[in-house]
Amino acid sequence: MTDIKSLTREELEARLKEWGAPAYRAGQVLDWLYKRRAANWDAMTNLPKPLRAKLAESFSLHVLELVRKQGAKDTTQKFLWRLPDGALIESVLIPANPALYGEASDRHTLCVSTQVGCAYGCKFCASGLDGWKRNLGPEEIVEQVLATERTVTGGMGQVANDAPTSPATRHPSRLVNNLVIMGMGEPLANYDNLLKALRLLNAPWGGGIGARKITISTSGLAPQIRKLATEPEQFRLALSLHGATDEVRARIMPVNRKHPLAELTAALEAYQRRKDQLITFEYILIAGVNDGLDQVRPLAALATRLHAKVNLIPYNTVEGLEWSRPAESVCEEFLAALERLEVTATLRREKGGDIDAACGQLRLKTERELAGQA
Ligand code: SAH
Ligand code: SF4
Repeated sequence: MTDIKSLTREELEARLKEWGAPAYRAGQVLDWLYKRRAANWDAMTNLPKPLRAKLAESFSLHVLELVRKQGAKDTTQKFLWRLPDGALIESVLIPANPALYGEASDRHTLCVSTQVGCAYGCKFCASGLDGWKRNLGPEEIVEQVLATERTVTGGMGQVANDAPTSPATRHPSRLVNNLVIMGMGEPLANYDNLLKALRLLNAPWGGGIGARKITISTSGLAPQIRKLATEPEQFRLALSLHGATDEVRARIMPVNRKHPLAELTAALEAYQRRKDQLITFEYILIAGVNDGLDQVRPLAALATRLHAKVNLIPYNTVEGLEWSRPAESVCEEFLAALERLEVTATLRREKGGDIDAACGQLRLKTERELAGQA
């Protein structure tokens, strides 16, 4: 059954029209879904009962079930969700950190997943350890925002007096105003569902989150980067680079064999010609792998060529993997060397390791614990 949260406004209007319902009902349903985050049809009290019944027999309205939560208010919080088929995914809620993605804000960034598992098998990453299971549907991507807000704010959102939507009163209770598509999975390998979800989250009648506040992170699927360049929205792009030469990158990211750096940088240049914003390079620092000062020059060359900003992220250790993070002094030195070459760079300094800060780790741990109990 199609889920109601995978429908655009036009699609919903068309169905309502078929049923002979007045056009304004679409706006009411969308308000219930995206502003009030209704978790069931019965909550939609201003819809006539027969219409609610018709909706319920035509569409599913799935909500994510919270399995586990880590962290506390005002810190990074991780949510582990169970999908209707039992699969587990993660979202991470991060209080605004102006230094990282985009401008200062009094609200929150949510990191969402796009697949169950990941097929790309980067050697350092927990998400790919058990392989790929399936793509998330658009509604499962959208629902991560709504379920997180429901959980954090303790229920449905309020809209004063059922006031008609105006730009000023839109999403009075939206907690999440920045999205990073950096959870489990390779977003560009689930391209159509991703784009549909992002359009639903971006639409003024939907999530109302600005396209420039949405960052898609990819391990480097060059053909899809070129395709993304042709879409009308100004989504931001982050590239998980992690190696500035083919030799280093291919050692830790098998995808580099399929799309080596020359092909990737050409695709990124094509992307930049079409968009008026900066690309970000994510560069995890892994001890003895990519943290040598000999890597600074090739990294700086790539960043300069693509006008990219570099985010250096000390590696978060993953249980069962051999990799480790470099000493703090090594990270600082790497940063300083990049800056001497006039690259804009930041180094993530907070200690996130103790809460399994990288996506995919909470799921892995929970699945291993569950397997241990069985
Ligand atoms: N598949 C996409 C998006 C999800 S991964 C991608 O690879 O870009 C989000 C980011 O977390 C990527 O930059 C990834 O390389 C990084 N990451 C994965 N495991 C990590 C770990 N253990 N420590 C730090 N960053 C990690
Ligand atoms: Fe997949 Fe990204 Fe992890 Fe690589 S880093 S295995 S692409 S989720």
